[in-house]
This record gives sequence, C-alpha cells and structure tokens, in this order.
Amino acid sequence: MTDLDQFRSETRAWLAENCPEEMRDGDITAEKQCWGGRLWEFQSEAQKQWFDRALEKGYTVPTWPIEYGGAGLSADQAKILDEERQAINARKPLSNFGISMLGPALLAYGTHEQKLQHLTGIARGEIRWCQGYSEPGAGSDLASLKSKCEDKGDHWLINGQKIWTSNADISDWIFCLVRTDFDAPKHRGITFILIDMASEGISVKPIVLISGHSPFCETFFDDVKVPKSYGPGNDSVVGEVNRGWDVAKNLLVHERGMLGTMSPLRGTKGPESLGKFAADHIGLDQGDRLADPALRQRIAQAELDNWAYNLTVERMTDEANAGNGLGAKSSMLKYVASELTKQGSELRMDIEGTAGATIGADGIEYDSLANTWLYNRAYSILGGTTEVQLNIISKRVLELPSQ
Ligand SMILES: Cc1cc2nc3c(=O)[nH]c(=O)nc-3n(C[C@H](O)[C@H](O)[C@H](O)COP(=O)(O)OP(=O)(O)OC[C@H]3O[C@@H](n4cnc5c(N)ncnc54)[C@H](O)[C@@H]3O)c2cc1C
Repeated sequence: MTDLDQFRSETRAWLAENCPEEMRDGDITAEKQCWGGRLWEFQSEAQKQWFDRALEKGYTVPTWPIEYGGAGLSADQAKILDEERQAINARKPLSNFGISMLGPALLAYGTHEQKLQHLTGIARGEIRWCQGYSEPGAGSDLASLKSKCEDKGDHWLINGQKIWTSNADISDWIFCLVRTDFDAPKHRGITFILIDMASEGISVKPIVLISGHSPFCETFFDDVKVPKSYGPGNDSVVGEVNRGWDVAKNLLVHERGMLGTMSPLRGTKGPESLGKFAADHIGLDQGDRLADPALRQRIAQAELDNWAYNLTVERMTDEANAGNGLGAKSSMLKYVASELTKQGSELRMDIEGTAGATIGADGIEYDSLANTWLYNRAYSILGGTTEVQLNIISKRVLELPSQ
C-alpha cells in the first residue's frame, strides 16, 4: 500500500466518522453553504458539527500550512480528500472568498504576520471577506479604477466607490484595489489594501437582481481612514504600494480557476444528472431511451462537452499542482464552465417546459429552476466577462497577434 492509498483509507474512515448524515446531501446552493464571519449563524447542529470537526483537522483549508490554520496537505492528498468528500456527497465545511481568492494571493504576496492574522481568521471561519475591485467606470478595464487612496502619514485616506461587491452587506473585511498614484501609467499606480468593513465612512447599498437575489452591493468610501499597519510586519497594504496590480492579477487567476472548476451541468441543488432529470420529467420510450429524440441529442452533446471539460480540468489541475500554475489557462476553464453552466440550465428549462417557468409569488424562490437559469446568466460576466476571457486566451494562451 502506498502512502497515498493509506491516506485515502484514513480519509474515508475520518469522513465516515465525522461528517454528519445531514451534511451528505450534496447541496450546493449558496443558501445552504457555511460562509463564516462575524454575523454567521449555523443553520443546524449538523452544520456546526461538520465545521468544527473539519476545523480541528485543518480541513476548512486543507492545503494551507498548519501554522495558518490548514492541514498542510500536498496537492495529491487534497485531491484525494476532495474525491472522498464528493463520493459521499458531503458539502464543503466552509466556503467563501477568503478561501478561494484572498488566501492564495496572501500565501504568495503576504508577510508572515499578515498571513498569521488573515489566513488564520479565514481558516477559522471568523472573518468573511468581500472583493472591492469593480467600479462604475472600471469593470473589464479594471486598471482604470479611480478610488483615491492618499498617504496621510500614519494612515491612508480613501474616497471613492466600488460596485457589484458581492455580499458586502454581510462581510467583515474587504480586499480592495485603490489608486495611490494618479500620474503613473494606469497599471503602475494601483495598491492592494485590506480594510475592515466596520471602518467609519464605509457605507453599503444592496442591488437586487432579476432573479430576486441581492448578492451584491454598491460600496462607498467617504474619508475612510485605514491604519498603515495592524501590527508589526502586518501592514494594511499587501505587496508594494503602487504595485498592487501584480497581487490583483494573481488573485484573479485563483478566482477564474475556482469559477472554472465548478460542475456546469449540476442541478439547482446538487449533482443530479441532466439525463436523470430529463427521464424523470419526459419519460422513456419502449427502448428505454429518452422519449424526445431531439432533446436526447442535445443532452448527449452537453454531457460529452461536460466530460471533455472535466477531463481538461483534471489535467490542468494536475499540471498546476506540478508547479506550472494555471496562469492564463484559468481563463479557458472559466470560459467553458460559464458557457456549459448556462447551457445546462437552459436545457433543464426546456425539459420542464412551462412548469419550470415559475419563480414564486414574490419572485424570490431562490433555488427554483427559473431563478437558477436567470442567475446563471451572470457567469459570463462575473470574474471577467466571456469576451475578456476570449481576449486573454487568444493573446496569452494561443499567442495570436493583436491585429
Ligand atoms: C454576479 C456577479 C458578481 C460580481 N461580484 C463582484 C465582486 O464581488 N467584486 C467585484 O469587484 N466585482 C464583482 N462583479 C463585477 C464583475 O467583475 C464585472 O461586472 C465584470 O468585470 C464586467 O465589468 P462591467 O460590468 O463594468 O462591464 P463592462 O466592462 O462595461 O463590459 C460591458 C460589455 O463590453 C464587453 N467588453 C468590455 N471590454 C471589452 C474588450 N476589451 N473586448 C471585447 N469586449 C469587451 C464586455 O465583455 C461586456 O459584454 C460581479 C459581477 C457579477 C455579474
């Protein structure tokens, strides 16, 4: 038995003993995840128990170093943990932007003291982070951002506005891009800074979407004073002042990588396959095949694309773990995952027909098919639009000439 085989059998046994039955429903809806943070309240005893057991083992952030709250697992071990977790349909014990976005960027660019404060807070589910990148005049062209950050000696003074800040109204801290130099070329005057959302001068206004959800907000900064340092070696700025674009790009690779590794053809709540969904709603013919031949063809094509996509994710993840990083290839995964996700919910809507076209009397039935279909349209915008991903793929992956 190899060390990894041994690890697999120990992990299987640990999951069997520690993951409560109630947490093994494979539910992936945002409402059912554990997000953590100062305002967090567990939805059930089972959810708390699952979180506590995972935390004890370092499994809220399995690959992070033990000193920052992780389990120090190798990439191969983390893959096994993930496979075994998915095999019993267990939810993740904790999910949030701190884990998927800020954490990896801090591991690359943070000081030991910054990691000690912020990574540990994320791993323990104590602090929930939001992302302050986009502004009304800076989305795809993010480097045009204008939120002004002035050096006032012992503190920074910030004035400006962010938009589309997901969950800003329920987050504790924000990782933010601000402009510290208005005269330098636009990529050279940006700084990456960490700010407590409880700071005086920050106000937040939720935006309601067509799906009825209100996952994001406008975030305003009016004379917000941010300390230069939160303690020795623990500055509020990550990396160098005016060089925040490097940190920002590193974080975007992780954001796109995370978005690009979701399960595109999943059901509204979990892994229910398209084929089963169609069979349940449309029925089978005498040859035990889906009764509608045209739909059968479309589902088969989507399943094939999904299969190819999953194999590509696996290959690219192995390559990334072998030290090559995902880099611009994260844009390929993000692009395909977004298109397949939209296609999957489009197909489910077609399968259900008019019965699927309900969003509840108040329009806010979060996990209805129609809501999911509406929300999934956002995937080709969030984390960088589809057109922008195609630009990146053509320039950085395929190395095509600009004109
Ligand atoms: C659900 C959701 C959650 C989000 N959460 C966050 C968050 O937490 N924090 C945050 O900071 N932001 C967040 N965003 C914002 C997101 O990053 C931006 O919406 C996105 O980057 C696009 O910017 P924009 O909306 O300003 O569109 P624009 O940049 O104005 O783009 C408009 C259109 O022009 C196209 N376009 C623009 N430039 C080019 C080009 N060079 N070549 C070809 N086509 C181009 C785009 O593809 C798009 O179709 C979120 C967005 C969504 C939908």
